[in-house]
Amino acid sequence: MYPLSPPAVYAHTSVVEEPRYKQRLDRVVAALETSVEPIVYRDEDIPRMVLEDGILAGRVSMGTLEVVPDPILLLNTFRFDGRRRERFDWLHEQGIPGEGHIEAALLGYEPWRWACYNLPDDPHRGDKVCRPCWRLHFQHGCVHKCKYCGCGGILATMVNVEDWISHLDRLIAAHPWQQTYLLEDDADIPCLEPELGCLGPIIEYFGTLEDRYVVIHTKSWNVDWMLDLPHNGNTIIVWSLSADTQSREIEPVCGTTEERIEAARKAQEAGYQIRYKLKPIVPVCGWREEARAMIDLIFERTQPDLISLCVFMWHAVDDMKRKLPVELLDPKILRAAEEARIPPSETMTAPYPDDVRAEIYEYHFREIRRHDPDIPVSLSTENWRMWRRLGPMLGFTATDYVCGCGPNSTPGLRRLQVHPFDAARGGPQADFNEM
Ligand code: SF4
Ligand code: SF4
Repeated sequence: MYPLSPPAVYAHTSVVEEPRYKQRLDRVVAALETSVEPIVYRDEDIPRMVLEDGILAGRVSMGTLEVVPDPILLLNTFRFDGRRRERFDWLHEQGIPGEGHIEAALLGYEPWRWACYNLPDDPHRGDKVCRPCWRLHFQHGCVHKCKYCGCGGILATMVNVEDWISHLDRLIAAHPWQQTYLLEDDADIPCLEPELGCLGPIIEYFGTLEDRYVVIHTKSWNVDWMLDLPHNGNTIIVWSLSADTQSREIEPVCGTTEERIEAARKAQEAGYQIRYKLKPIVPVCGWREEARAMIDLIFERTQPDLISLCVFMWHAVDDMKRKLPVELLDPKILRAAEEARIPPSETMTAPYPDDVRAEIYEYHFREIRRHDPDIPVSLSTENWRMWRRLGPMLGFTATDYVCGCGPNSTPGLRRLQVHPFDAARGGPQADFNEM
């Protein structure tokens, strides 16, 4: 696992009282760079840990901090007892608001969440094209310290993977239309492996299934431990990849561009399906040359089945400038964002205006096509306008493209066989939302 020096390690009583879970805790603690005595806690201690110990205080955009410490580690178990609503109400009564992933992780709930993207109850359905589906959760928080991200400060991981898998089996059976399952959109799950010993069983479990896939989304170099696992071709690893300056200066603890591509090469050699999301693309000075070098290296070392693109978004321009090292940003493109001043409330794609994003997409697309005339290239979480503009070039529409973590983007697929929004209309089955 990564070399880490967390300021504290918390372990719930349900972790230390079960020998198999305790072994997982012991292995992680033994692998830390500095020795830490785990603090064993009960649920009743959570309010004090949050309000007095400040375990959630470090959850701010990491680019706004002078120094970003390694996250606190917290090991817990999923409860699967149907008391999610009651336990959230209890937490709120204790003065801790919010029902985000981290609060759920503290309580031991939400092993998955229904992402209603582009369905009638999605408030952003007119402004963002994505795919409705179940998304799987096992951790919340990350060791990677990307400057634009707020997932630092604490990394909460569950340890009862065997229980999680048995409930996941029911979820999969109840939603036959969903073929691929993204594991984590706000954590980077390989980082505590193999010591944690949870991702291996997940990969092996999917390896037993027919035409069902887990999608591991990562910026990590840490793959050696997984190369010999019996994955049976049912694990897709999506590298979120960035070019050199961004990988070193803005995503400083992730693998570099070359390290991530090398990890993908090893995984590919071990039979895993690999693919890339160039997301977020931060237009730094020299972005064209760096993008070209990155894409050259992708095709020199690996054969992804698809590539998805997404320019840096979800920020007002001033918010972006607070988080990112402004001196690294392409000044002409930054000026375009400053002049446009798009507030994120108006569009999910702020701060860069459409013309700028389109230019960046077109450049990346041309570079990819220099190497491969056929590989599917799609946009991730872009808006409808951009799809109308670039769809003809990409050869897809907003409703038939395959992409990094789409729920029906199975390995090697060239175009969706089902309409992504119609396919999901059969779900979700309600009781799975209450776990
Ligand atoms: S790898 Fe992802 S989750 Fe981790 S810090 Fe970076 S953006 Fe956040
Ligand atoms: S890759 Fe596809 S499903 Fe995943 S976030 Fe992007 S658009 Fe949505």
